[in-house]
Amino acid sequence: MKNRMDRLAEALKERARFFDDIGAQFLIDSDPGRKKMSRTGTRRAVQAPEPPSFGKAAPKSEPGRPPSPEDIKALEQAVLGCGLCPLSRLRTNAVPGEGNWAAELMFIGEGPGRDEDLQGRPFVGRAGQLLTKIITAMGLRREDVYIANVVKCRPPENRVPHREEIEVCSPYLVRQIDMIRPRVIVTLGKTPTDFFIPSRLGMTALRGRFGEYRGIPVMPTFHPAYLVRNERNRELRRMVWEDMQNVMALLGKK
Ligand code: URA
Repeated sequence: MKNRMDRLAEALKERARFFDDIGAQFLIDSDPGRKKMSRTGTRRAVQAPEPPSFGKAAPKSEPGRPPSPEDIKALEQAVLGCGLCPLSRLRTNAVPGEGNWAAELMFIGEGPGRDEDLQGRPFVGRAGQLLTKIITAMGLRREDVYIANVVKCRPPENRVPHREEIEVCSPYLVRQIDMIRPRVIVTLGKTPTDFFIPSRLGMTALRGRFGEYRGIPVMPTFHPAYLVRNERNRELRRMVWEDMQNVMALLGKK
């Protein structure tokens, strides 16, 4: 039988593999201040994340108090029975969102993909598994945060939702935000980022800097599906991790 030290060493190794996997390698470097090789072979310092440009996380209107079960049920039933746009006729399941209705932190994606459409739950495919890892690396569980999408039904072939589809569907998201009153919102990719902070800029320019939506700080970051598609690009993962660290700092959890 393994002794306690072996089990501890194994647990630490597992954690290190996990941080490595999400690109947070610098968390397990023995000397975090040491120089790193850039791709061109020149040396550059590992940069500390910028302090958030946004001052404070929004206060929760009623701290820790979720909306009533009736209100939650009404919203979910409305989404599940929605027939307001053509996407509703193509879906297997509508995907209202899931998580903690008293959450301080909300993650918002674009719209359900194939796995989400089949299961009726947000972010359960490959991108979702990576999102779960990111949430865990932040010291949270999926059940601690609320995860939603801008549109609640899957666009065909996972295309970007059309403007009219977003217009028709977004009142559900706005209602979810009003009910949860998160202290910080993280937008995953361009579609949700544009919804809160409209801009012609691309994600590389937008990510990492807090915007604001009705008094709630909004942190745009890359969509986990983009990280999955570019899994060799460790810099992308490092940037997402940096963004999440700034979110945690704003929540006072770092
Ligand atoms: N991509 C999204 O934007 N949302 C999901 O729920 C899954 C994949």
